[in-house]
Amino acid sequence: MKEKKAPKKSWIYYYVVTFVIVILLNTLVFPFISQREIKEVGYNTFLEDLEKGKISEVAMGDNQIVYLIKDNKGDEKLYKTGIWPDDDLVNRLKDAGVKFSAEIPKQASPMLSFFMTWIFPILVFFILGQLLSRTLMKKMGGGGNAMTFGKANAKIYVEAQTGKTFKDVAGQDEAKEALTEIVDFLHNPQKYSEIGAKLPKGALLVGPPGTGKTLLARAVAGEAQVPFFSISGSEFVEMFVGMGAAKVRDLFKQANEKAPCIVFIDEIDTIGKKRDNGGISGGNDEREQTLNQLLTEMDGFDGKKGVVILAATNRPDSLDKALLRPGRFDRRIPVELPDLKGREDILKVHAKGVKISDNVDFNTIARATSGASGAELENIINEGALRAVRMGREIVLQEDLEESVEVVIAGYQRKGAVISQKEKEIIAYHEIGHALVAASQTDSAPVHKITIIPRTSGALGYTMQVEEGEHVLMSKDEAFNKIVTFTGGRAAEELVFGSVTSGASNDIEQATKIARAMISRYGMSEHFDMVALETVTNQYLGGDTSLACSNETATKIDEEVIAMVKSAHEKAINILKDNMGKLHELSTYLLEKETITGEEFMNILNS
Ligand code: ADP
Ligand code: MG
Ligand code: ZN
Repeated sequence: MKEKKAPKKSWIYYYVVTFVIVILLNTLVFPFISQREIKEVGYNTFLEDLEKGKISEVAMGDNQIVYLIKDNKGDEKLYKTGIWPDDDLVNRLKDAGVKFSAEIPKQASPMLSFFMTWIFPILVFFILGQLLSRTLMKKMGGGGNAMTFGKANAKIYVEAQTGKTFKDVAGQDEAKEALTEIVDFLHNPQKYSEIGAKLPKGALLVGPPGTGKTLLARAVAGEAQVPFFSISGSEFVEMFVGMGAAKVRDLFKQANEKAPCIVFIDEIDTIGKKRDNGGISGGNDEREQTLNQLLTEMDGFDGKKGVVILAATNRPDSLDKALLRPGRFDRRIPVELPDLKGREDILKVHAKGVKISDNVDFNTIARATSGASGAELENIINEGALRAVRMGREIVLQEDLEESVEVVIAGYQRKGAVISQKEKEIIAYHEIGHALVAASQTDSAPVHKITIIPRTSGALGYTMQVEEGEHVLMSKDEAFNKIVTFTGGRAAEELVFGSVTSGASNDIEQATKIARAMISRYGMSEHFDMVALETVTNQYLGGDTSLACSNETATKIDEEVIAMVKSAHEKAINILKDNMGKLHELSTYLLEKETITGEEFMNILNS
C-alpha cells in the first residue's frame, strides 16, 4: 500500500534521460555547429587575411580577436585568433578600412552561452514534462468514474460502477444463476467466511464470440456494486520479457487495495495457452512468464478479502491445465449461443433503445436468426433502425428488421449489379431447385423466402429456410435431407440447362461439411459405427477439426463422404424430375418477382 510512489519513479527516469540528452547535445552537436561558425586560426593567418584585404569586420575581445570574411559569393565566415602584442594593429586596421570594435559579432557571452546550452534545454524539457504529467493526472482523476493508472504502460482499466445489471443480459439464465452466488459473496463476504466456506477464486466464462461474456462480467460487478478491474489478455503481450508479469503483479496489487472487487481478464487464452507446445512454436518466454505470474498471484492472494477473478475465453481447449485446477479458475460457466427464447429476449432488450412499432413480431425474427449471437442480434436491431432512417420513417417496422436479418446473413442488396437475363434464369432455377427439394422432403425446415437479388457478400440469390421451433438434435434423416437440399440447386441447373455453373460452390462446401461430420463425428455411417474419427479443436470458433485416425481410414472417410453426397445429389435429381412442371412454373414466377415469400411458394406448389 505504501508503494504509491511508484508512478513518480518514471518521472525520475524522465529527468535523467533529459539530462543525458542535454549532455549529448552539448558534447556532440553544439561544438560541431559552433566549429563551423567560428574557425580558430593562427595570428599569422589573420595578418595575411588583413593584408590581402579580405577582412570586412574585426572585433577585439578580452583574450581573442574575432574577424569576418565575406567571400565573392557573399557568404560570411567567422574566424578567431588569440591576442598578440601588436601596437601597430589599430593603424593597419584603419588603413585597410576595416570596421573594428570591441563587440564580438554573433558570439554570445559565456553566461549567455551557458544559459543557452545548459539551462534553456533543461528548462524546456522540464516544462514539457510538467505539462505531460499534468494532462496525465487529469485523465487519471477526472473523466467520470473511469480512470487509468499509468505505470510504465500497464493500463489497467477501472470502473467504479459498471452501470450494468443482469437485466441488461437477456437469456443466459444458467450463466446468471452461476454468477449470482459470486454477487452474493461480494455483497457479504463474512457470511461465507464465518461458516468456513471458500468461494471459488475465479470463474471462467466460456463461449463463442459475441454471446455476452464481457457483458456478464460487467453485470456481476454492477449487481454487486463493486469496482471492476479489467484487462485484456492481448495487452499482456509486450515486446519486452517481464512486462506482462509486472502488469499482472500490478493488477493484483491494485485489486487487493480496492477489495471487494472484480478482476476481469478478457481473452485469457492469449496468455493462458498451454505451455507445453511440444517445442513447435519454440516457446514464448514472455507469455510463459506472464502466465506463471498469474498463477502465482492467484495462489497468493487471500480469497476471503473479496477479490473475485473472472476471465473470458472462446478457446477453452487451448488453456493451460494449471489455470483450471481447483483454487484458480475452477468454475467454468458456459455462455452459449442463445436459443429461440433467448434470441427473442435479446432482441427485445436492444429494441428498448430504439423507436419501434408495437406490432413487431420478435418471435419471427428470432426464428429466422438461429445460430446468431447476442452481438449479431444487437446489430440486426441497429441495421433495422438505420434502414428506417434511410426509408425516411421515424419508427422501425417489421420489414426493416426482416431486411436487416438478411443484411446480417447475406450482406446488403446489390441493386445496381448487372446480371444478364440468361444468368438470372439460371439463378432462379437454382434457387427454386433448393426450395422444391426442401419442400418435398419430410424433416426439412419450411421455406421462408426465396430471392434472386444479389447481395454484397457475393451471394447471387438464396433460399431462406426457417425452423418452426428450436432444434438441439439432428437425426440422421434430417442431416441427409439437408445435404439433398444443398445439392438441389445444382440438380435443377443440370436438369434444365444440361450444364453446370460455379454458382453452387457454397452449397458444395456445406454439403461436404455435413456429410463429413455425419461420418467422422456423429457415428451416422454403417461402416465406422460409433468411432470418433475426428475431434473438434475449437468448438466456439468455427469448429475446426483434426483427424484422429490412420491414413487408410482417412481415405475410407473420403470415399464414404463422396458416396453420401453422390446419393444425395441423385435423390435431389429424382425429386426434381418428378416435379418438372412445378420447377418451371415457380422459376418463371421467381424470375418475374425476384423475391417471393414462403407462402407464395407453397401456394403455387400446392395449386
Ligand atoms: P463476448 O465478450 O462474449 O464476445 P460481449 O459481451 O462483448 O461478447 O457482447 C457484445 C455485445 O452484444 C454486448 O455489448 C451486448 O450489447 C450484446 N449482447 C451479447 N449477448 C447479449 C445478451 N445475452 N443480452 C443482451 N445483449 C447481449
Ligand atoms: Mg468479449
Ligand atoms: Zn445454391
